Order: sequence, then structure tokens, then C-alpha cells
Amino acid sequence: LFAGESTFVKGVVAMSGLPPADRLEVCFAGRSNVGKSSLINALTGTKGLARASNTPGRTQEINFFTQGPERYLVDLPGYGYANAPLDVVAKWQRLLKQYLSGRQNLRRAFVLVDSRHGVKPVDEEIMALLDSAAVTFQCVLTKADKVKAKDREHVLEQVRTALSRHPAAYPELVLTSSEKGDGISTLRSIVANLT
Ligand code: GDP
Repeated sequence: LFAGESTFVKGVVAMSGLPPADRLEVCFAGRSNVGKSSLINALTGTKGLARASNTPGRTQEINFFTQGPERYLVDLPGYGYANAPLDVVAKWQRLLKQYLSGRQNLRRAFVLVDSRHGVKPVDEEIMALLDSAAVTFQCVLTKADKVKAKDREHVLEQVRTALSRHPAAYPELVLTSSEKGDGISTLRSIVANLT
């Protein structure tokens, strides 16, 4: 995977809009503000490719990006908005469920968790959904630069304990900082090596 190979394909609001499942794909999920857009931009080396969607009422789109000719990177809408209208949440959950259980080229989900906060109940909900859809997921800790080394082990332990309750969880964590670049090449090769 090389920088400059990524383009935006489309934003999808219903299953009927999904691009053909003609290549392997990975998806990224996380609470709003977890650093998902920054991570996708860092991963693809394309500034401004993924945009933060910080408006709760905004259309909840699943955004597809290419990563070279053989991969889709899929940006799932951020969840856990404090004031998200219930109908928006319900609609997004329905689409998410359909996407996760019906996408046969989906190889792995990356669940992003803020290094400062660890796994929250709303993350557990997504993880439970991934369990029931039998989609392997890997936890990516974001904003590692914001956590002091001495506090890091505590968060990692909390995350490992949470993951141990989820059968679909892949045990290896990836610690990243989009700001400093930590863990980005590791994550890039994890995506590249999926078959
Ligand atoms: P999203 O809502 O999950 O897409 O989150 P964004 O990527 O928009 O990031 C939310 C906020 O966190 C922004 O102010 C980013 O600048 C900041 N942020 C994202 N990644 C990092 C990181 O690795 N380190 C630091 N210090 N801040 C980050």
C-alpha cells in the first residue's frame, strides 16, 4: 500500500448502494471524535480523504475508499453522539447490522478506541454486533501520543480484558498516533497482508 493510491468511491446510505464486492475490504468503526478520519488519512497518506462528521443529525453514510486496486477501506459512521436523534441511531444500527452480516468480502473490522479512555459501553455494543456477525475485529488504540507511558499499561489491560469477552476479537492490539505516525505502518501492513 502506497501513499497517493486512495480515492473516494462513494457514500452509501442503504444496502442497495454498496459497490460490488469485487475486492477485499476492511472497515473502521469508532466513537465520534476517536480519531477515525485522522487515522484513515494517515493510513492512506491522503490528507482530507476522510472527513470528520461531527454533526449528529447528518446523514449517516458508509464511505468507501480505494486503497490501491485491490482493497476497499470502509469508513463507518461514528457512533456515540451524545445528542443523536433516536431515529438516526436506529437507522444507522439497521444499516450497520445489514452491512456487517451481509458483506462477504469484508475481512476485518478495526474498532478504534481512544488510548485515554479505553473501551466504553458503546464500543462494547459494536463489538457484540461484530461477534454476532462473525466479523473478526481488531482493536486500534488512537491518540497514543496523548497518554503518558506510565498510564499506558493500565489502558491496555482494560482493553485486553474487554476483548477477552468477545469471541470475534483478534487479540493483538495496535497502538497508533496519527499525529506522530506511530503504528501507522504496522496497521498498513496488517491491511495489506489480509487475504
Ligand atoms: P473522528 O471524528 O473519529 O473522525 O475524529 P478526527 O480524526 O476528526 O479527530 C478528532 C480530534 O482528535 C481532532 O481534533 C484531531 O486533530 C484529534 N486527533 C486525531 N488523531 C490524533 C492523534 O493521533 N493525536 C492527537 N494528539 N490528536 C489526534
